[in-house]
Amino acid sequence: MKGYFGEFGGIFVPESFTPILEELEKAYEEAKKDPSFQRELESYLKDYVGRPSPLYFARRISEDVGCKVYLKREDLNHTGAHKINNTIGQILLAKRMGKKRIIAETGAGQHGVATATVCAMMGMECEIYMGKLDVKRQFLNVLRMELLGAKVHAVEEGSQTLKDAMNEAFRDWLANVQTTHYLIGSVAGPHPYPTIVRDFQSIIGKETKAQILEKENRLPTHLIACVGGGSNAMGFFYPFLDDKEVHLIGVEAGGTGTGIGQHAATLNFGIPGVLHGSKTKVLLDNYGQVLPVHSISAGLDYPGVGPEVAYLQGIGRLQAAYVTDDEAMQGLIYLARYEGIIPALESSHAIGYLLKQKHTFLSSDIVIINVSGRGDKDMNTVHEYIQKKGGL
Ligand SMILES: *Cc1c(COP(=O)(O)O)cnc(C)c1O
Repeated sequence: MKGYFGEFGGIFVPESFTPILEELEKAYEEAKKDPSFQRELESYLKDYVGRPSPLYFARRISEDVGCKVYLKREDLNHTGAHKINNTIGQILLAKRMGKKRIIAETGAGQHGVATATVCAMMGMECEIYMGKLDVKRQFLNVLRMELLGAKVHAVEEGSQTLKDAMNEAFRDWLANVQTTHYLIGSVAGPHPYPTIVRDFQSIIGKETKAQILEKENRLPTHLIACVGGGSNAMGFFYPFLDDKEVHLIGVEAGGTGTGIGQHAATLNFGIPGVLHGSKTKVLLDNYGQVLPVHSISAGLDYPGVGPEVAYLQGIGRLQAAYVTDDEAMQGLIYLARYEGIIPALESSHAIGYLLKQKHTFLSSDIVIINVSGRGDKDMNTVHEYIQKKGGL
C-alpha cells in the first residue's frame, strides 16, 4: 500500500490534508526525476553544506576496540549536524512548488536553526513552532533562529514541548497551504514525509559506501547511529539495506532507567500506535496516551520513531539498542579524549554503545559510526552533568 512500510506508515490526518499531501508527493516525484533539480541540490550540498563529509579512520579508538573504527563526520556540515541535508532538499522543493513561506516544528531547536538557515539563504519567510518550555530551555537556539530572520512562536498548549509544536505547525499549514510549505525535520509524519526526508538524508550512506569501498575495498560489518526520529540513521543505513551482511544498529536514549518517563527508547519499549500522522511505534500507556519521555540529549527526546525504522526493526534488518544518559556522556568523553572530537550528545549515544560493547567486536570487523552532530550546543548540559557528579 502507498506510503506504507509493512504495517507502519500511511496517512493518519484529517481528510482536509489529503490534497495538500498529494500535491507534495506529486511535486517530489517530479523533482526526483528532474536532472536540473538534482544538479541544483548537489551544488548546494557541495558549496553550502560542505559535502562530502569526511569518513575518518579513528586510529586510537580502533586500537582500543581492537578492530577498524571509522567515523562519518556529519558534525562538520554547515550548522553542525546532518539536519541541513534535509532542509536544503526541502527548501528547493518548496521553491519549485512556488511556496513563499516555510513553517517548521522544533524541539531542541536544531531543526529550527537548520530551517531558518536555508530560509535566509533562499530569501523565504520562516516561522518556527517551538514548545514554550523548550523556548526557555534552548534560548541560544531561539536567538540563532531570530538572528537568521525567523519568527519563533512559543507554543503554550499541552506539555509545551515538541509534540505540541508539531500540532501547531499542522494547524498553521492547513490555514495557509496556498503559500506555505511545512518542512518536517525527521523521517516522521504522514506519507510522503518519511520517504522524502530519508531520501534527502541518504546522501550520508551513499557517500559512506563509496568512501569505505575506496579505503578498505570491502563493505563495513557494522553501522551504528543514534535514533531519535530516525533521520540520521535512515539516511546512513538506507544505501546498505540490500547488503545483508552489514549489521545495522540503532541506538536510542535509555535516559535514567526503564521506568515510565525515564527514557525515550521507542523501538525498545514502544508499541504500535499513531503519532503525528503515521502509524508507527510509540511510547503509549494502557489507555493509548503518549507517555512522557526523557533524555540528556534534547534531540532524542521524542516518544515516536519513523515508520520505516520501526518496520526495519520488525523484519529483523535493524537491531535496536539503547544506552543511558551516563553511558552517552562516557561516549562523549571517550571521543573527545581519544580522537579530539566533541560529538553532540545525540551522537554520543552511538559512541557510548561502541564503548559499552567493545569486547564483542572481532579484529576483522569494520565499524562505522555516524557522528550526526557536533557537541558545542551541549556544553551547558555537560557542565551541569559534571557539577552534579562532582567532577569528570
Ligand atoms: C536532531 C538530531 C538527532 C536526532 O534526530 P534523528 O532524526 O533521529 O536523526 C540526532 N543527532 C543530532 C546531532 C541531531 O541534531
